[in-house]
Amino acid sequence: ATEILTYEYDVVVIGAGGAGLRAAIEARAHGKSVAIVCKSLFGKAHTVMAEGGAAAAMGNVNAHDNWMVHFRDTMRGGKFLNNPRMAELHAKEAPDRVWELEEWGALFDRTKDGKISQRNFGGHEYPRLAHVGDRTGLELIRTLQQAVVSFQQKDFKEHGDYEARVKVFQEHTVTRLLKDGDRIAGAFGYRREDGRFVLFKAPAVVLATGGVGKTFKVTSNSWEYTGDGHALALLAGATLINMECIQFHPTGMVWPPSIKGALVTESVRGDGGVLRNSEGKRFMFDYVPDVFRKQYAETEEEADRWYEDPDNNRRPPELLPRDEVARSINSEVKAGRGTPHGGVFLDVSTRLPAEQILKRLPSMYHQFKELADVDITAEPMEVGPTCHYVMGGVEVDPDTAASTVPGLFAAGEVAGGMHGSNRLGGNSLSDLLVFGRRAGLGAAEYIDGLAAGGRPAVSDADVEAARVEALAPLEHDGGENPYTVHAELQQTMNDLVGIIRREAEVAAAVEKLAEFRERREKISAPGTRTFNPGWHLALDLRNMLLVADCVAKAALERQESRGGHTREDYPAMSAEWRKINLVCSLDEQGLAQLERKPVPTIRKDLLELFELSELKKYMTDEELEGLEDAK
Ligand code: FAD
Repeated sequence: ATEILTYEYDVVVIGAGGAGLRAAIEARAHGKSVAIVCKSLFGKAHTVMAEGGAAAAMGNVNAHDNWMVHFRDTMRGGKFLNNPRMAELHAKEAPDRVWELEEWGALFDRTKDGKISQRNFGGHEYPRLAHVGDRTGLELIRTLQQAVVSFQQKDFKEHGDYEARVKVFQEHTVTRLLKDGDRIAGAFGYRREDGRFVLFKAPAVVLATGGVGKTFKVTSNSWEYTGDGHALALLAGATLINMECIQFHPTGMVWPPSIKGALVTESVRGDGGVLRNSEGKRFMFDYVPDVFRKQYAETEEEADRWYEDPDNNRRPPELLPRDEVARSINSEVKAGRGTPHGGVFLDVSTRLPAEQILKRLPSMYHQFKELADVDITAEPMEVGPTCHYVMGGVEVDPDTAASTVPGLFAAGEVAGGMHGSNRLGGNSLSDLLVFGRRAGLGAAEYIDGLAAGGRPAVSDADVEAARVEALAPLEHDGGENPYTVHAELQQTMNDLVGIIRREAEVAAAVEKLAEFRERREKISAPGTRTFNPGWHLALDLRNMLLVADCVAKAALERQESRGGHTREDYPAMSAEWRKINLVCSLDEQGLAQLERKPVPTIRKDLLELFELSELKKYMTDEELEGLEDAK
């Protein structure tokens, strides 16, 4: 069948993780018809893998917590590169989004007095992560899916068709966004099962495609995180910001090789786990940077007391933001104090009784027992950094999630700005809910505003071009195998644009990427369109190469070290660079080009939440002019 399956909706949401589902619910609640399109099975997004919890300043466990403390922590974690309006909206709205989930049926773990329980996590001043054991994402997705189903049940009553207003297109991959002039007009893709092409005509598209982890070799991300949304946005003329900021989570499994990079949740440290080197030393005390010294314990005794009495002691340095912990582990291993498999030890067995570990960290127990034959209730784990999250993403308006292309919205991991140069754990699940909702609302309002000018139309020529592009790898004979190019790309990004970056190496990566792009042009994926993973990878490679080009070029440009971007040749943070967002777009040849734009200024009332002495560590005197120490 060569004919293209064609559908028409108000809003097409690409991605069925937390951000996509929350956006779809909001758009449907505002009366729009919605298609939810996802690359894998419905229910198998990254969100489902989230373990630790969703950060929201509800103050259930420590009444001192509130949105202002959460805002402060988020800005500190992101080293002040965050879009301050996004960090503000997120901190203010996250509690409502978590309570709303509970109303929709989510069953969070409880405190003794029956409130939603909250756990400690790196960089959060108070226990703040609402959680369900170490399987929070599963409950979040289950609840959101249930909310989608309840709309479908209502629609059945009204229209006699469950899918009258919301339909899920699972195992469908979008390969191109389509436009009418400047505006979004739809999306083009294929069905994974049989390779048939699909066309969605729609005036609004919400990108909620998640991350880019598969561009790197060692990653916690699964197969579908190939930066599709980032690339689709670029190809449609939208912009990405700060793509150099990549989060390497400090604790991935380092052994066995087949699952190297699989995530070991930060909850292990939040619940008391400590990091030691091969000499048995709790080395994190040696790595507390100046900007954080006031908030972190200096001795093991103080750190240990904090778990029982957090108001009168400072936090253990194992709970520093992720970028700090990842770099420290990297340094220990490099200095020859690593474990047999090239990581460090993470031990919870000497910190908590076995039954507590089984209750609080059941997935971790099974993951280590089954995959590595390690019993975490009795022995330490071996862990090391793994590529986990991309802070960079589509440049959006904080309030509406609108990109620079009319009709195109982005939320969740694919959007940029919220997390600055480094995301705090738990701030993603809350981000998905807060900005997923805003994107759905933004799309609905955009459509309402269109009524007068009419809906944009898809052009046949654009659809044909998308079809020809998608078929190309099947039609080349004797070309290279997509898996070879992918493996080399991943190795290059890992080795040359990884956790510690050097100018010459990143420049070498930029050149290699040009070579990979040429090789991709000639790639061939033998076989038919029916369930052909080689073909799918060949198409994904276009996206990964575009993303990698942005990451490498931005990493070369930013001459400082900040959060998820560490330059060995520029090891310090620079107050001048803090003011700059690196904005990536495509030039006429389809290559990444960068432009420097100012980071939005932080409102005075928000600046006054910090001590002036702290702000001075990040900002120029000029920016702080006229500001007095409010404390
Ligand atoms: P995702 O949940 O990643 O979903 C993306 C969706 O887009 C999927 O449905 C996918 O199929 C679809 N898609 C992608 N490309 C296409 C395409 N071309 N066409 C159609 N569909 C497409 N964060 C926290 O806050 N707390 C945690 O405890 C936590 N734990 C984590 C544990 C692990 C192992 C991992 C990997 C991440 C964790 N994170 C955590 C991060 C968090 O889970 C993710 O950042 C977040 O779930 C991303 O959600 P999203 O809605 O943006 O996208």
